[in-house]
Amino acid sequence: MKLIDMHCDTLWKLMDLDQRGDLGKSGCSITLPGLKQAGVLAQFFACFTYFEDYREQRGYEDAYCHVLEMIDYFYAQMEQFSGEIAAACTKEEMERHEAEGRISAFLTVEEGGVINGQMARIEELYQRGVRLLTPVWNYENCFGYPNSRDSHVMKKGLKPFGVEAVEYMGELGMIVDVSHASDGTFRDILAHARGPVAASHSNCRALCSHPRNLTDEMIRALAEKGGVAGLNLYGYFLSDSGESRIEYMAEHIIHMLRVGGSEFPAIGTDFDGFDGIEILEIPDPRQMDRLWDALRKKGLRESLIDKIWYKNAARIIE
Ligand SMILES: [Zn+2]
Repeated sequence: MKLIDMHCDTLWKLMDLDQRGDLGKSGCSITLPGLKQAGVLAQFFACFTYFEDYREQRGYEDAYCHVLEMIDYFYAQMEQFSGEIAAACTKEEMERHEAEGRISAFLTVEEGGVINGQMARIEELYQRGVRLLTPVWNYENCFGYPNSRDSHVMKKGLKPFGVEAVEYMGELGMIVDVSHASDGTFRDILAHARGPVAASHSNCRALCSHPRNLTDEMIRALAEKGGVAGLNLYGYFLSDSGESRIEYMAEHIIHMLRVGGSEFPAIGTDFDGFDGIEILEIPDPRQMDRLWDALRKKGLRESLIDKIWYKNAARIIE
């Protein structure tokens, strides 16, 4: 079964957290043998920076330098494993790699704070191959406000720079990722986006109350814009008990289908972003077929699961 995974933090884990191994072999959930065995068509790789690591230094200025280092590392890995995986920027490139028997790797940046109010950086990242950017992570930044349990913060949206930057991303053809956004930022992004919008790794708030998740109203609005949401396998976004179970994953997919329609759900595992603190019922891409089987048991047609597995994400890439 073909699969497009719209989010993983493997670059961060390899470079910052574990600092051992590479895409070929490591303690990560995402490894090349695993991607191959799972039939992965494309894997999105996030350059994630954790602001706390830079607070004592030059903040987002240093974080931006680190993003550039992560991009260099990404391309070095593509070089090292060029027989098996290759960087892609378009759907055509992805299809070419598929015909060559290679996995496609899409580069993304998670934490728009690194832009630090400098529009030229968005263009620089685009030139370097970044095709999706997550404007806010869990801190207020130059774009706007993050998800929060504080209703006052949750209502706040994009700042004037954020509005301009989101419009510019649309002109470039960079996907605007609403995952991690406050409800206000989500609303403002949808109002100003000129190109593709996705929630690369977010679930349904109706089933799990975490503020990172999408309300039914948000799901409908994003679906109307032609967007998608990637199912996140992290337990705290799946159930209020915090457990990561296949049963809950299937329920979120079915809820997304019911509210957003068949063109809406995608996959955004968030693998390697959990800091190793959690036990997942699906610990790596090789076991994604267990979720496939669970969805089949719930009566979903294979053609519909194919949309969830890769066709809806491929549409956004296109
Ligand atoms: Zn994230």
